[in-house]
Amino acid sequence: MEVLYKSTRGNGETATASQAILQGLAADGGLYVPTAVPVLDVPVERLAEMHYREVAYEVMSRFFTDFTEEELKACIDRAYDAKFDTEEIAPVHEADGMYFLELFHGATIAFKDMALSILPHLMTTAARKNHENKEIVILTATSGDTGKAALAGFADVPGTKIVVFYPKDGVSPIQEKQMVTQKGANTHVVAIKGNFDDAQTGVKNIFNDPALADRFAKAGYRLSSANSINIGRLIPQVAYYVYGYAQLLKKGCLANEETLDVTVPTGNFGNILAAYYAKQMGVPIGRLICASNENKVLYDFFATGTYDRNREFILTSSPSMDILISSNLERLVYRIAGDSEEKNRELMRELSAGGTYTVTDEMREKLSDFYGGYATEEETARTIRNIYKKTGYVLDTHTAVAACVCQKYRDEKGNNTKNMVISTASPFKFTRSVMTAIDPIHEKLTDFEMIDELSRIAGVKVPQAIEEIRTAPVRHTTVAEAGRMAEAVEALLGM
Ligand SMILES: *Cc1c(COP(=O)(O)O)cnc(C)c1O
Repeated sequence: MEVLYKSTRGNGETATASQAILQGLAADGGLYVPTAVPVLDVPVERLAEMHYREVAYEVMSRFFTDFTEEELKACIDRAYDAKFDTEEIAPVHEADGMYFLELFHGATIAFKDMALSILPHLMTTAARKNHENKEIVILTATSGDTGKAALAGFADVPGTKIVVFYPKDGVSPIQEKQMVTQKGANTHVVAIKGNFDDAQTGVKNIFNDPALADRFAKAGYRLSSANSINIGRLIPQVAYYVYGYAQLLKKGCLANEETLDVTVPTGNFGNILAAYYAKQMGVPIGRLICASNENKVLYDFFATGTYDRNREFILTSSPSMDILISSNLERLVYRIAGDSEEKNRELMRELSAGGTYTVTDEMREKLSDFYGGYATEEETARTIRNIYKKTGYVLDTHTAVAACVCQKYRDEKGNNTKNMVISTASPFKFTRSVMTAIDPIHEKLTDFEMIDELSRIAGVKVPQAIEEIRTAPVRHTTVAEAGRMAEAVEALLGM
């Protein structure tokens, strides 16, 4: 069955998977969604015997139907290889009555690697299929994790260049070091004098400037984005839910057809939307528990049916979830509006005009698969400390938000359904917050002293991604005013 893609704000016009991947955001500003979620017609017992790459193929081939088997397998083989520090790619770890699906074994030790290690290959394959002969230039604004994962994914991929913008004083010292030491002749990193919103707005302005687009086209470049709105990022994420379920079955943690709830630390709503698609494909997933930090816009949305971004932006210890506009929620809103472009367009117009919208009661009823919860900073730190004291397992701050919400959900509902908590970052990426949560005595250590101490107390080797930056030379030193990002890109591309 061929799966096509439609914009959530379009006029019903369809695109093939490769066109949607190449395009990223639809021209009307909407997001591409599959016209129907395909059923995964492979028995779970068979999936349980497969390697991650094989499961990924089973899932992605159902969605990306205009890719040949050979094309898709080549993308998958190049993505999920020895860049990951475990042959399992996404291992499951049991601790304190929860199953943690560890998605941080890739090149940059955060879950963004799961999608960004394959996106460059999907994109260059899509370009070939659509006879696009311009070089692809990826522009990305980052608050930390996406930038490094995108750089690592696109580094030295032929036919591509990548420029990442980050707020000069808005990322952790380790995140900054990870980016400015990035290797690859086609990689560029620019520090912006401003905050993440300034960087994000600057990138959007470049994309929306027709005169600029014309200059780039004449110079032989096609601009694109590695942002999580690209279906080339979303669909690869469905694979690890299928894999996680199958592995739990294989290990005997689940009986045949047993329901598994999942808890997802959520920011832009991409990860949990992938879980929703996995469920629709037929995986026996029960509740989708959406965990937020103190920026609890989504919690309020699930509790009241009103999305309201008009609130203070709170800086937390889980910065990758500090988000007030969860872009991928639009895909769910479109769905619960009965796949109505009109209704969705109207709500999104309200969001951009007044920062808020309310869904109808009928739409709310279709949200019953979801449950929203949140964890305060204090609860997050306590969860890290308690689970470490009880089991010796160390969670990063984002995963701890999810573990805390999972426990609160189970207590509140008296629920003991098996629960897979999505572990989105290695604790080594957020060492300072993690180590002070375990014991404030660690506060006086330097970043690298803390890393060594974490390695000692957790009994886990320091990941390669961290070892590398201890001594790696700085390769990127460009700094730009937020208002001059286009000039910076033109200079870097030698235009
Ligand atoms: C990006 C990120 C998240 C949020 O994921 P979404 O798909 O945006 O909801 C959570 N944790 C970490 C560590 C991340 O990097």
